[in-house]
Parts: sequence; C-alpha cells; structure tokens
Amino acid sequence: MADQLWRRTPESFAALRTLPASLRSELERSFRLDTLVETTVRPADEGLTHKALHLLDDGRSIESVLMRYPARGSVCARATVCISSQAGCAVGCPFCATGELGFWRDLTTAEIVDQVRSWASFLRPTGERVTNIVFMGMGEPLLNTERVLAAAAALSDPRRFGLGARHITISTSGVVPGIERLTEQGTRYTLAVSLHAARPALRDLLVPLNHRWPAHAVVAAAAAYGRATGRRVTYEYVMISGINDTADDAAETARLLGGQLAHVNLIPMNPVAHTPWLPSPSDRIEAFAAILRAAGLPTTVRRNRGIEIGAACGQLAAERAEQPAPAAVARRRELIVERTSAALGRGMAQGGS
Ligand code: SAH
Ligand code: SF4
Repeated sequence: MADQLWRRTPESFAALRTLPASLRSELERSFRLDTLVETTVRPADEGLTHKALHLLDDGRSIESVLMRYPARGSVCARATVCISSQAGCAVGCPFCATGELGFWRDLTTAEIVDQVRSWASFLRPTGERVTNIVFMGMGEPLLNTERVLAAAAALSDPRRFGLGARHITISTSGVVPGIERLTEQGTRYTLAVSLHAARPALRDLLVPLNHRWPAHAVVAAAAAYGRATGRRVTYEYVMISGINDTADDAAETARLLGGQLAHVNLIPMNPVAHTPWLPSPSDRIEAFAAILRAAGLPTTVRRNRGIEIGAACGQLAAERAEQPAPAAVARRRELIVERTSAALGRGMAQGGS
C-alpha cells in the first residue's frame, strides 16, 4: 500500500481500489493523507509556471512553485518543484520577501514532502512526473536540517518517491554546521550556496548569517562536501543593481571561488516591495559573468520564471501576510500525524518529528 501512496499520490484512501472497502473507510475515518489543509494554484508563463499557496493546520501559509521546461532537441522535458522548508525565515536577507516576513516555524517532514506530492497529483492527468526538487522556497533548509534530510531521504528512496539524489537541490545561505551534516551523511544531493557577495562587509549586509559563518568558512565547508560526494557545488549570486554587481565584486568572487569544483548561477534580483533595489541590467550581468568565466568558473545566468505571479522567494505569502487566525481555518484536521506514520510506513507523514 505504501508503494501506491507514494507512486500514485491518491487524493483519498477511497481511491485505493485494491484495498477492501471496509479497510478504505476505516483508514478514511482514522487517518489523514495530507498535511496541507488547502492549496490554491495560480498559473503564469502560459502554463509553464504554477505557484501554490498551501494553508497549514495552524493557519500559516507556505508556498511552492512548479516550473515546467518542455523537451528541446535531445534534452528531455523537466518539471522542477521549488519547495519551502520553513514558514517564514529568520535569516533576514534584505532583498528577500520571505526574510521580510520573519520566522514563524519549522515545517514538519510531512509538510515538506506533501508539497511535492501535491504537484505530483497536479501533473498526473498529463502523464508528467516531477523530475527535480529544489529547496528554494520559503525558509533556510539547513536551520531545519533533520526534517529536511528526512524529507529528502523519503523523496530519494527508490521504495518511496524515488527521485535520484542529484535531482534534489538543497540551497543554503551558508549554515556551516548544516553543510557539515550533509557531508557527514554523504548522500549526493546537489548543494547550492547563496553567496551574493564576496566582500565581508557587503555579505554581512546581504546575508546577515555572514556575521556568524563568514563566506570563506562557508566555501571551505562546501568544498569539503564537494570532495566527499564528487558533486559540483552551485553558488547562487543575486544581481542587485549598483549594490553587488561591479567588476571588483566579480574579481573578489573569482578570488574566493578560484580552484573550487563550483558553478556560479547569476540571478537578476526579483524586485520586492520593501526595498528600492532593482535587478542589474543585462549588460552588467554579462560583464560580471565574463570575469568569472575568464577565471575558470563555469557561470550561467538564470532567467526568472513566474515573475508576474510573484514567484520570487516568499512573494505570494507576503501578499497574504495577514494570515488567517488559527481559529478561522475551516476544519482543523483532528487526527495525529504520527498515527499515519506508524500505519503507512517510514517517514510518510511524520508530523512533528
Ligand atoms: N534560504 C535558502 C533557500 C531559500 S531562498 C537560501 O537563501 O539559499 C532561494 C534562493 O532565492 C536564494 O539563492 C535566494 O538568495 C534567492 N532569492 C531570494 N530573494 C530573491 C529575490 N528577490 N530575487 C532573486 N532571488 C532571490
Ligand atoms: Fe531566508 Fe533564503 Fe530569504 Fe535569506 S534568501 S531570508 S536565507 S529564505
């Protein structure tokens, strides 16, 4: 049965037709299949991008995004799901809408996994599958490390969701002990590090965690991860006009990352309401990329997807910052998530672990 639950992501126990009817109704009465109370989906990019707002049990909302890339030549079609690891975020990067919202709570393993299961159900009618998962929604995954690792283990387990580990990307703003934990575990996930600046004072401003774990320590921890797993580390660099996009910034970045098994991804900043900052113009981004490439660092520029539906980190939730009071949630699910976990097998819907 666990196999059917993972592979077919049914919407209810009643849909598990291979089970006797009496067992189905008993399961329906006693257990819950989904920790997300309500999911609202909005399309953009002519249906290539969809953004979901998920309502949680306690009235908080989180978001996830589906980005579909059609097949091109010999490149197969992909469906990447961007998921949240926390409701809000405590790190407080000033260019990030989630950072502006503040921190509410860690998500449970089941709440993380259920975002992916909900997109798997969404894709089922067209025969498509989720091919990649990125922890780039709300929250800092490595400040919720154990639950994120339990979710990633379930999603990469061939007997459960069954996605290859390298198709799962964990993005961190630089939590050194969390990166060390990934290294110690040794699973070959893709690690993305949000760098955004190489100069210490600028990175202190853009990624306040830099006060605690400075960029050189983060790069050293990521390099150790790369050596242990053989995986190239991705460095994310949000390009903010006039803030971190000069030739000097590029040269400092090249010096910091020189000799690493790394790939740099330049991301034009998505404008957010609470800052006057704007994305760097494309010629400046290209000039920045050229300096990195000349230093031997493979560098790509990411096209922003879903901007018109506010698919930048945290923006949809920010629109609904006035979260409904817990009492206003229509029907609180009553049954305890752990019971589901015990009945359905490892990690399936473990609530507050
Ligand atoms: N907390 C983790 C993962 C979630 S943020 C992290 O910071 O890595 C995912 C990515 O979105 C990060 O690289 C982050 O810097 C980027 N991001 C946040 N706000 C953005 C914005 N306004 N425009 C472009 N990228 C943004
Ligand atoms: Fe948190 Fe990442 Fe946003 Fe920074 S960029 S506030 S770490 S979610």
